[in-house]
Amino acid sequence: MDTRSPVSELEIRNYVGGEWREPTADDGRDVVNPATGERLARVTFSGADDVDRAVEAGLEAFDDWSRRPVEERIQPLFELKSLLEDHQAELAELLVRDHGKTLAEARGELRRGIENVEVACGMPTTMQAGTLPNAAPGIDESAIRQPLGVFAAVTPFNFPGMIPLWFLPYAVATGNAFVLKPSERDPLVPQRLVELVEEAGVPDGVVQLLHGGADTVNALLEHEGIAGISFVGSTPVARHVYAKAAEHGKRVQAQGGAKNYVIVTETADLEFAAEKTVSSSFACGGERCLANDVAVVEESVYDEFADLVVEHAANQTVGYGLDEGVDIGALITPEHERRVREFVETGLEEGATLLYDGRDVAVEGHEDGNFLGPCVFGDVDGEMTIAQEEIFGPVLGLAAASDLDEAVELLNGTRFGNAASLFTGEGADARAVRHDADVGNLGVNVGTAAPMAFFHFGGRKDSFFGDLHAQGDDAIRFYTDETIYIERWPDR
Ligand code: NAD
Repeated sequence: MDTRSPVSELEIRNYVGGEWREPTADDGRDVVNPATGERLARVTFSGADDVDRAVEAGLEAFDDWSRRPVEERIQPLFELKSLLEDHQAELAELLVRDHGKTLAEARGELRRGIENVEVACGMPTTMQAGTLPNAAPGIDESAIRQPLGVFAAVTPFNFPGMIPLWFLPYAVATGNAFVLKPSERDPLVPQRLVELVEEAGVPDGVVQLLHGGADTVNALLEHEGIAGISFVGSTPVARHVYAKAAEHGKRVQAQGGAKNYVIVTETADLEFAAEKTVSSSFACGGERCLANDVAVVEESVYDEFADLVVEHAANQTVGYGLDEGVDIGALITPEHERRVREFVETGLEEGATLLYDGRDVAVEGHEDGNFLGPCVFGDVDGEMTIAQEEIFGPVLGLAAASDLDEAVELLNGTRFGNAASLFTGEGADARAVRHDADVGNLGVNVGTAAPMAFFHFGGRKDSFFGDLHAQGDDAIRFYTDETIYIERWPDR
């Protein structure tokens, strides 16, 4: 079966109040397959009028939806889970063409998205709050979780199939209405997701889809009908969203960028650690907020580990994500590819040693693709740009440390705090790093510290702005407020 038919006729539409409508702003951009350069579609952005209509539709639907029993609200989510599974192959292929990642990565992403739908289906249990009879003489008290209105989520390009599902199922199951504003760079999968939401029987107005860019986001942030905003993207925009949402009196959770360190001690299984580090660094072309960026290795095993990493890097196949045997797909845009290449130049200028150079990679038949092979730097120190800044490409740095304390100091020495990993054979090392690492997610002998959907997900420092994170119990608390019900009845 040829799975690569062009979809240039694909129409990108907003979904508002149960209807598919064309966005109305003057600007927009082409949606391009990053591996082939083929134009897949054109996305027109949403203007303030589109935002108004979406919020009004949400407010109208909220009145009825929030009153329905939670058991009724989760029924379309069961249906959505089935539909997502039935359409997984189709969605994965679209994801590869829209984003550039490999088919295996796309399938894995969708699986992690579906997991959130499953967790939200437990809302009749998880939305319960506490009750205390006789809290004071003759008085019973209970906490009641209530939905708040219309929530919006603004999502990034790197996981267009999963990240919308960090928010949508929880917002809907708790009884809110929801507006999704996905990345304008790869909006095809989010659009397909919302088509499936419609097919699953979510009532009109409960979920809206708005395409657009910064202006659309700002209109949502300023809109008085929006109760809260979830954001995932780069740190400068996360900071902006956090401040502006707060200025307009909204709840906000804003997940930002990352610079993730791995520590490898001399007691680690080095072969295992190298394999996991390389796979975490280069899968998805390094365009993961949990990708390993810098491995800090105890001096005594640094050379051995560096050799293993280079060996694994050399085995990575770069190519079109739909082709068999490809490990690293294309980067999202030519501009982003240029930016990543500039980081490699900076690494060389600042004195790091390029142990493996993937810059000359060529993918036959796809000369217009945004390809970059894996690059491994040695002799990285904590002051270098490549040790501090988020690169978001297939670039891994190796640094040596004399002991665990020095390694943890390097790990904590960036402004980010999304995730870290430790490879070790010693429980005492794990205990120490668990206490000292200033990160939101920590993997021990795990390369990519990605929590399951029933645990929350979020970072620290410049990787997260807010209090309540995505997924799990935090998501339920973000989408509800607890009214405390204090009750007294005269004695019989
Ligand atoms: P981005 O910040 O460029 O865009 C994210 C969203 O914000 C998009 O929907 C975009 O339309 C909107 N946006 C862009 N500029 C804006 C502006 N000036 N004002 C208002 N809205 C604006 O991020 P990206 O390039 O799409 O995604 C990659 C980034 O996301 C990386 O930094 C990565 O680390 C981060 N990320 C973080 C997590 C996490 O959980 N912390 C997860 C995935 C991605």
